[in-house]
Amino acid sequence: MRRGTNVHALGGFNQIVILDTIRRTTDGLSRVEIAEQTGLSAQTVSNVSRRLLDEGIIRETGQRILGVGKPRIILELDPNGGYAIGVHLDPSVITYVVLDLDGQVIAHASTATPSGTTPDDVIDGMRDSIEAIIVDAGVDRSRVLGVGIAAPGPLDLDRGVVLDPPLLEGWHGVALRDALAKSTGLTVLLEKDVTAATVAELWTSSAHERDDFMFFYYGTGVGVGLAIAHEAVRGATNNAGDAGHIIVDPGGPLCSCGRRGCLGDAIMPRALVAQATAAGLVDTPSAPLDGRDVDEALATIAALAASGDPAAVAMLDEVADRTAVAVVTVANLLDLDTVVFGGPYWNRVSSHILQRISVQVNTSEALVTTHPIAVTVSRIGDDVAAVGAACLVLDDALSPRPSALLISG
Ligand SMILES: [Zn+2]
Repeated sequence: MRRGTNVHALGGFNQIVILDTIRRTTDGLSRVEIAEQTGLSAQTVSNVSRRLLDEGIIRETGQRILGVGKPRIILELDPNGGYAIGVHLDPSVITYVVLDLDGQVIAHASTATPSGTTPDDVIDGMRDSIEAIIVDAGVDRSRVLGVGIAAPGPLDLDRGVVLDPPLLEGWHGVALRDALAKSTGLTVLLEKDVTAATVAELWTSSAHERDDFMFFYYGTGVGVGLAIAHEAVRGATNNAGDAGHIIVDPGGPLCSCGRRGCLGDAIMPRALVAQATAAGLVDTPSAPLDGRDVDEALATIAALAASGDPAAVAMLDEVADRTAVAVVTVANLLDLDTVVFGGPYWNRVSSHILQRISVQVNTSEALVTTHPIAVTVSRIGDDVAAVGAACLVLDDALSPRPSALLISG
């Protein structure tokens, strides 16, 4: 079991089974259809439906005539029946979203991740931003089902602890989940950033559309989220997806791991900006760069490349080629057919490198799969990991789980 607690905000097991059945249809279901699909008795479906209608979690949306007999009233989730908050902690930017019960983003905010502060200060800021976005979204706080947080790994998900992320300064063994739960009074779920992004892509794609894919995350760091058979892959300790030490340039710079040319060092935005600064392409402050400095410099590099500056073009081409090496390695290993790119810095470079990555991947001598690899961009954009974290809260509230069965009988 990957999480120790369930939200249980939406009732007992039969109720969650019925909600889960309703939400998996695009145009609602009648009570008779729900009974057929769940195996529950007509009386149980009727009783639970009444309760869900009274609580405003589902709504009646009209009638449908099915074969002979009287028209049947159709039930669907009421989008305003509950809300989930998603938070994404990237070392450069913290993103907040509010999702309604249908999974639609109804509010969004982001702030620069404060540098030179303690994790406690950052968590206090998160609490304030969460309260602010609830107000901005105009939702009833009592209908907030919980908060999902996407954070850089490694994590200890059982204890809800951020262990020692290499790029998040001063964060060592921080009990983020419990600290935020205590300060907000809301249920909090923690997930690794790349896994949350993968979950968001799964939520917004139909079955079989994206079954086996990698989510290539381009943030302050670089990582890979994985989905196999339409399920996110988490691994033994929920820390799957560390791609930073895949060697993409054997003659490249020395990595902290002692080898040369690792993916993280080769393509991460900060390294690119340092390279561009050394080459005189961009002017950056001499003080340590914050996320905004990196973003601005990356925008300048992309603009120079778009205008045909040979040095900028060469730099981004190299990023594309090295990224392609890593994509081929992972796609071969797991027989994936799609790679989805996203993360806070992806949009800065996407237009220049996406097509080249696709060509490099699909013409690579090293590619052994017998099918092409679709190279695409996240439909959700910059919010993707925050949206995924909020989806986890909805999943937890709406999906039947064996533990719920044991508890509520
Ligand atoms: Zn390395």
